Amino acid sequence: MVFLPLPHAVETVMRILRQNGFAAVVVGGCVRDACMGIPPHDFDMATDATPDEILRCFADHRVLQTGIAHGTATILLDQMPVELTTFRIDGDYADHRHPTQVTFTDKLEQDLARRDLTINAMAYDGARVIDPFGGQTDLARQSIRCVGDADRRFDEDGLRILRAMRFAAVLSFSVESRTAEAMHRHRELLRRISAERIWAEFGKLLRGENASVVLAEFSDVLGIFLPQYDENGLRQLARAPADPTVRLALLLQNTDAAAALRMLRADNRTIRAVTLLLSAERKPLRRMLSAYPPETVDAYWDFTFAHGEIDEAERDALRAQTNAVLREKPCLRVHDLAVNGTDLQAEGFRGAQIGQTLTALLNAVLNDELPNEKDALLLRARSAKE
Ligand code: ATP
Ligand code: MG
Repeated sequence: MVFLPLPHAVETVMRILRQNGFAAVVVGGCVRDACMGIPPHDFDMATDATPDEILRCFADHRVLQTGIAHGTATILLDQMPVELTTFRIDGDYADHRHPTQVTFTDKLEQDLARRDLTINAMAYDGARVIDPFGGQTDLARQSIRCVGDADRRFDEDGLRILRAMRFAAVLSFSVESRTAEAMHRHRELLRRISAERIWAEFGKLLRGENASVVLAEFSDVLGIFLPQYDENGLRQLARAPADPTVRLALLLQNTDAAAALRMLRADNRTIRAVTLLLSAERKPLRRMLSAYPPETVDAYWDFTFAHGEIDEAERDALRAQTNAVLREKPCLRVHDLAVNGTDLQAEGFRGAQIGQTLTALLNAVLNDELPNEKDALLLRARSAKE
């Protein structure tokens, strides 16, 4: 017997549905994660209650009608959102993206059959795991496999190709051969998928431990949604840590990285981090920490290591030195100086002169020409003014 601990809110939703005569299970990612001993980050539930019946059962609760037409409502209990979806069969997939219509069903197995991968097609009813497609066997084999016929499943929804890669990268699983062949064969279907959905999966893939292996195996798929990618960068990924900024910088070196990331609909933070890393130059440590945020400097050592410019020992030494410098809390920015604009105003500085003088003082401190002490800085400012 399997025991997966369920949060109180989930147990409550289950109990209420059952008291009203309905089936209720947790399903998908949370069952997969729990079977692997990973604490689930959220719990999705499924039921044979129709959307109207769900609303009736939870009339006394806070319910967000998130996607009620598709059978999904979010129940808020104990401050915890529980997503609850009516068992459904997806109809035809006219555009290789979304089903043209969904049909509700009272059979759990039909709901599990519409899901993408065997490891994602398991349910748990509070006592046992319902696993009609061999998800647990595939977990044990560390294997990514489609539910049913792989060609058909990718033809229905091309995003599943990237999802299979994402789970292979994150879980360090290999893709079963027929599923892998179908992914290569159907890669063009990814062109019809919106950039937003692609980025959501690709962003997760890039955090995966095994991303470099998966992207090398499926470089033809990568070429569909990131045609600019740099071939050397793809090889260098094997030496990069599981940091999406470093990995994207490697893949997008020698390209217009910002444009490529905007096309992918990457978030602005990622775009900024990657472009800053690609523009970073090696300088004396304190100068580097003055010019770039610490995470960029850290990523820079990983990037140049993956690139082959420094070896592992150098990378580790540079990282240790970077941390040592940061621990000293050195003066790195104008606002770290022991004088400020008001001090300079009192000395008779005006307007643009103030900013220029502060920058010159910071440079002198960074070059070890001056200590970061008020008297010394004011003395230098005065002599520069004359
Ligand atoms: P995560 O830990 O990233 O949330 P997850 O498995 O929960 O992983 P979701 O994207 O949240 O992934 O999807 C929830 C479930 O819905 C999946 O486990 C899977 O059963 C099903 N699913 C999601 N996307 C698809 C799809 N494109 N095709 C078929 N089934 C899908
Ligand atoms: Mg999920």
